[in-house]
Order: sequence, then structure tokens, then C-alpha cells
Amino acid sequence: MTFRRYLDSDDLKMNTAVIACEPIEEGRYHVLLEATLFHPQGGGQPADIGTIGDAQVLNVIQDESGIVHITDRPVNRGMAAIAVEAENRQMNTRMHSAGHLIGYVGEQAGWKAVKANHRPGEGRVVFDAADNGTPLTVTDFNAQVNHLVNSKLLRHQYMEGETRKVTWGDLPPYACGGTHVASTEETGTVEITAVKLKKGALSVSYTLS
Ligand SMILES: [Zn+2]
Repeated sequence: MTFRRYLDSDDLKMNTAVIACEPIEEGRYHVLLEATLFHPQGGGQPADIGTIGDAQVLNVIQDESGIVHITDRPVNRGMAAIAVEAENRQMNTRMHSAGHLIGYVGEQAGWKAVKANHRPGEGRVVFDAADNGTPLTVTDFNAQVNHLVNSKLLRHQYMEGETRKVTWGDLPPYACGGTHVASTEETGTVEITAVKLKKGALSVSYTLS
């Protein structure tokens, strides 16, 4: 199993061992590492991209074999330098963290967050209306989410057994393996672009300015 260093480290570069590299199709390889800083796609957050040695990491997925890095060329077994591409990571981290803040605001109003997409351009958190939450408008979400951003709440991440927990300031902790800003101010201003109530679901769309 791959040692998931991204759970306890914001570092973008390290040396680690390549333990397997298998061709999967023309020009695509599956690479397993002893330890990785690459966050796989999941939990609404897209994968990191970057490099392992000279190979480009095009996607990262998690399956029963561990964290699978999909590269554009083979890499040799043994030690390799890995590097996560910073701009993509930062955008994914900000989008994902903003999703948490929107989730918190909705849950404070009695809604339950059930689904999220944190891909840039597709930011959305969907709440279940089963709990008869108080409807919130675009203005409500904008004010409350950006209040959390401007409060500069500091992140706390810790392991509880096999589960990684994350919180900011005094917000309730979530079980989440994603990447998170160290302070809420790093998300920058969150712009709520639409709030739609349809078939018992409250759908909140957002973007970052
Ligand atoms: Zn998260």
C-alpha cells in the first residue's frame, strides 16, 4: 500500500521509491510508489498532476493496489524525484476548501451536504432537503461563507485511527482525505453564483475570484 504523505504534508517535492511500473495502453503507464505526495481524484476533488523523474503524471487514481499514478512514459524502479504541479494543486485545494465552508454554512441552517464537485468551473455543493433546512439565498451564502474566509481560521488536521479529520478554527471536524488551505483566507473570496431548490435538493454553485 502506498504511504499517503499528502495526508500529513503540504510539501510538493520529495524523493521516494518506484515499486512498480506497468504499461496499460499505448503511451500510458501505471506507476506505484512507496510514498506519494500526489492526491488522487476523489471526494469531489480532481487529481494532482506533476512529474515522477522525467515522466509526466497525467492523472492519479486510487484502487485496491494503492495510489496509481498514470504517466506518459515508463519510469525505472528505484529512487525517483517526484514533484506535484503547484498551480493545479493550489487551485484544487482552494476550490475543495471553499466547498467545505459552503457545506458548513448549509449544515448550520439545517441542511445535509450529500454531493460535491470541486472542479474549477464546476464548483457545486448539493444539500438534501430531508431535514427541512431554512432556505438560504445567494446573498446569505455569500455573506456567511466569506465571513469564514475573512475570519482567517487556521486549519487543524489529524488522524483518528485510519481516518484523517480536518477542521478550521472551531468548525466541526470532517472526515476527509482531500487537500486543504492552511488558513481559510487562502481560499480568497468565494463567489456563490446560484442557489437552486429542486426536488428536495438545494444546489449551490460557486466560483473563486
Ligand atoms: Zn476536504
